[in-house]
Amino acid sequence: MGEMRHNWTKQEILDIYSKPLMELLYEAATVHRLHHDPNTVQVSTLLSIKTGGCPEDCGYCPQAARYHTNIESNDLMSVQQVKAQALRAKASGSSRVCMGAAWRNVKDGQEFDQVLEMVRTINKLDMEVCCTLGMITENQAQRLAEAGLYAYNHNLDSSEEYYKEVISTRGFEDRLQTIENVRKTNVTVCSGGIIGMGEKIEDRTGMLVALSTLNPQPESVPINALVAVEGTPLEAQEPVSIWEMIRMVATTRIVMPETQVRLSAGRTEMSREGQAMCFFAGANSIFAGDKLLTTPNPDVKEDMKMFELLGLNPQKPFIKKMKPQSVEAADSRYQALGEKPKWSRPEHTIDRNEAAKKKSKTVK
Ligand code: SF4
Repeated sequence: MGEMRHNWTKQEILDIYSKPLMELLYEAATVHRLHHDPNTVQVSTLLSIKTGGCPEDCGYCPQAARYHTNIESNDLMSVQQVKAQALRAKASGSSRVCMGAAWRNVKDGQEFDQVLEMVRTINKLDMEVCCTLGMITENQAQRLAEAGLYAYNHNLDSSEEYYKEVISTRGFEDRLQTIENVRKTNVTVCSGGIIGMGEKIEDRTGMLVALSTLNPQPESVPINALVAVEGTPLEAQEPVSIWEMIRMVATTRIVMPETQVRLSAGRTEMSREGQAMCFFAGANSIFAGDKLLTTPNPDVKEDMKMFELLGLNPQKPFIKKMKPQSVEAADSRYQALGEKPKWSRPEHTIDRNEAAKKKSKTVK
């Protein structure tokens, strides 16, 4: 039980997902205990370093410029602002800062250099640093690694089939390519998805096939429950039930035994009992802070109370992997190459995305 496999099939994963709940929970908890300390949960703080105005059309995202949402767009934060926030996060028990920028892909230049400086700064605070900046080239991944990046997040979002129903401005293969570029460095991979976007169970298991057959498997897999934001194409989606979340977490744990399974967006809707069951089912990471990029998240003090209640301890940094060295900009071995890769633009029509775009024009 709980052996590392990279050949999971959709049917096998579907069979696991569909087991009687008590059996599924028992199996997942057993795998969890074999590979992790069940009383330790890693805590990350997500920081939106550049908010809104994104050119992509992700159907779940309030940061896409083409939809009308109540998001206030912001330019790239300064290194000092990021440092102040990281120190606050550290003081409240976070071991990792994850910086998100609403970009389609990284472009070489002053802004990326500023992000590299943020990475160096947080690394020096003895915290794990993660970035989520969109598609990146191998050279950009190397430069991030050299600055001391610990993890790069790039979600697959859903199965390859359902991805096409949510996003039309880039292809699934671009996601895989970015993950491959990160894998050429010593940066760890964080990649997961969202449930509750109207997908079938087969899409959830299809996404788990795509993630679990990566070799090595991602070190971190966030499982998000859609937070349906007004103005986005998915605004009318019904929230997923806690039972679906528990099943998804448990199945992820079983097929990716070493991975840190991350309970991500949608936690505000979950009771403590529901979250406790997710931890029992193998979730061992959360995002802290009152905001998850732009959507609400439980207050960190409430989370710490929950930890106390459940006897959970926040994981110390660099437990799973050594702290990466950070090279100063002046000593860098890598130059900006100014590459302009041709990331795909399928541009097929997604009716609900088009409708949300049209509606936005009448509101703006
Ligand atoms: S999910 Fe990321 S890439 Fe997609 S619209 Fe939002 S910010 Fe842009």
